[in-house]
Formats: sequence, structure tokens, C-alpha cells
Amino acid sequence: MSPPVGVLALQGNVPEHLDALRACGADARPVRRPAELDEVAGLVLPGGESTTLSKLLEAFDLLEPLRERLRAGMPAFGSCAGMILLAREAVDGRPDQHQLGALDITVRRNAFGRQVQSFEADLAVTGIAGGPVRAVFIRAPWVESVGRGVEVLARVPGSVPGPASGKVVAVRQGAVMATAFHPEQTGDARLHDLFLRRVRDTVLGLTS
Ligand code: GLN
Repeated sequence: MSPPVGVLALQGNVPEHLDALRACGADARPVRRPAELDEVAGLVLPGGESTTLSKLLEAFDLLEPLRERLRAGMPAFGSCAGMILLAREAVDGRPDQHQLGALDITVRRNAFGRQVQSFEADLAVTGIAGGPVRAVFIRAPWVESVGRGVEVLARVPGSVPGPASGKVVAVRQGAVMATAFHPEQTGDARLHDLFLRRVRDTVLGLTS
């Protein structure tokens, strides 16, 4: 049984996420309208530009329906800008930027430095077997603080010098997970698979 899952398709790395989900055998669909959101059992929020995505969510009448689904326990997986949107608070965001508040975390936008276009590291990720995950960070946020109900899934290794060292870059709270990096860019679909297992468990009522 493979319930339909969506990728928020307003801007950003949409085809890459659809491909990764389909490679795991999922019925993956782009979501642009409230009626399309109604049909999916889980949603990926891709990387892109969180301020633009925030505006588009409003323009496409998706902001409140999405908040509603998240409150009702829909599994979601945010990457980079998607993580920023899911967070309760974004430092260095625009004042009018909407937060979905599905993760009790504070993120810092463009945390690795605006001039650092991209940065890669091998990360041990809780729940992912079979060795480290190659993480590609592109103008990425990191997580500055996490609330009590939030599980840290990965940190930048302590061996990386500078302020990024040890920073939290993957989290989970209930059915919602997020990575500061881009798992859709490496051909390694293990994080998508983890998300899909969570969607199936939620549909089958196997999670609390
Ligand atoms: N810096 C972007 C933002 O603030 C995120 C970049 C990304 O998703 N690759 O939204």
C-alpha cells in the first residue's frame, strides 16, 4: 500500500524530490492547489527561497490549509528552505515571512555565510542505516535551538572547523522531519524512504 504523497510545487527543487520519491516506489505528485493538498498523505517542502515560498503559499491559498493539515498530524519533510518554513522561528528572515510552526525550532537563514554558496559533509543521521549521508548545503540554514519535543537527527561533524562545527542540521518532531541540506541532490533516497515509512505508518495508524 503506497498512499499518494506530494511535493510542494511552487518553486525550488520540485522535480528532484518527485524523482527521489518515485525511486522509492511512491505515488508522488506535485501540489499547487488546496484540492491537491487534500489528496496527499504527506508533503515534501523543497529547498528554494523561503521568502518567495512564503509569498507563494499565500498567493496560492495554501498557507492556512497547509497549517491545518500539519496541525492535524500530516507527515512532512522539509529540506533547506522547507526546513525554514516548517520552523517556529527564523532568525535573519524577512519580517513578513510566514512560519508554519510545525517544528519547535529556531533556524538561522543563510547561516553558513552568504558568501558560502555550498558546503558538503558526510553526516551520521539517526534512523539511517548503511553509512553516512552525503549532505549538500546550499545557502543553508542551521538550527540554533530546539524545543523539548524535537529529536536531533544530525549535526555538522565536530571535525569541521569554524562556527558550523557541531551545529544541528536535521531534526524530527512527531511526523515532521527536516534537513538543512538537500537529500534530493545526491541520488541517495534513504531520507525520502524514511519519510515514506513515516507516511505509511501514519496512514495505518501505527504512530501516536
Ligand atoms: N537561503 C534560502 C532561504 O533562505 C534557502 C536556500 C535553499 O533552500 N537552498 O530560503
